[in-house]
Amino acid sequence: MGMHRRLLLLILFFTALPGALSAQPAGGASYLLLSHDPAFLEEIGKVSTVVYSAGRTRLVELKVAPGELPAALASKIRPVSPAEIYNGPAAAGALKAAEPAVLAVLAKVDANRLMGYAEAITMTGKRSAGQLDVSAASGNRQAMDLIAKSFTAMGYAVERQCYKDRKADKECNIVARRKSGKAGARAILVIGHMDSVGHENAGADDNASGSAGVLEMAKVLSGYKADHDLIFVTANGEENGITGSYACVKKLKETGELSKVAWAINMDMISWNKDGIIELETNKEFSAHADWVAALARTYTKQQPYIAMPAWGSDHVPFLEAGIPTYLSIEHWENHNPCYHKACDKLEGLRWDYASDIVKLNLAVIAGKAGLTPIK
Ligand SMILES: [Zn+2]
Repeated sequence: MGMHRRLLLLILFFTALPGALSAQPAGGASYLLLSHDPAFLEEIGKVSTVVYSAGRTRLVELKVAPGELPAALASKIRPVSPAEIYNGPAAAGALKAAEPAVLAVLAKVDANRLMGYAEAITMTGKRSAGQLDVSAASGNRQAMDLIAKSFTAMGYAVERQCYKDRKADKECNIVARRKSGKAGARAILVIGHMDSVGHENAGADDNASGSAGVLEMAKVLSGYKADHDLIFVTANGEENGITGSYACVKKLKETGELSKVAWAINMDMISWNKDGIIELETNKEFSAHADWVAALARTYTKQQPYIAMPAWGSDHVPFLEAGIPTYLSIEHWENHNPCYHKACDKLEGLRWDYASDIVKLNLAVIAGKAGLTPIK
């Protein structure tokens, strides 16, 4: 086949086949979008063409020279090679038999309690970190206090991990810990951001749902001894460039705790369900771990696992960059919440049975890694 015919076929292939049908792009100099915020999508749309789109993985080709892009746009894209990319169903491995001890842990997940946590966080007011400049009693502060109180009531040691002075208050993550006490114990970290883009009493799915998931996992695990230390983080400032999670990694590094973290799990937007699919997002180097998690999803939930690579735009990124096996569990981005980053991101229409399945999956991962024993 001559070069030109091959090129023509490639072009035909590109034009005829929508990205959603193929798990991998056909190649070309392309950039991964590191934000799907509606305002950013509109701006980047004026200077680029979408060449691949499946789930959270959207690639564009630029219509202008990269150097001509405004800094605000340039910081939210990065060049990718086709080898980094996959978005589609997880490989179908042999279905494992469910273990009774794991099922007993998962049976403790309570969809109503999970919804209650999410509702309480949603109703704190305006939860963007920027509100900490406006008032010492902002919605962001209310959410921090409410979450810290909940962890304390469960028996965890709670740290207010502050990393930035704001005009009226401090910007902090809330970190809850429990030591295993076993010799040679490592740590498993669970994270989900509690801030929102800032609409009043909104951000229910993004990400009251994921931070409620962190609380629900902590609540269930408060009834178990584990072989490893447990660290629960509700991160702040995710919507301002993942600042809380980056600060958390930096602080854990300074105290030497980061080297103990064997695994981290992120939940961001876990309660909008259209098609029974969970996306598990990571980077290529950890795809075997993601496949293992996907196998647990098939065993312990009613949802179908998809793998999305590479990672972008949420609290798992700083941990991946630090070399820690980490994945994001998130609703299927192909059919994600239409109220994403809008004032209508309310509790109506959210699915707590689906969110519970994501919480169960992440608990099954911990059960598989940390040998849980019920506390009598
Ligand atoms: Zn989010």
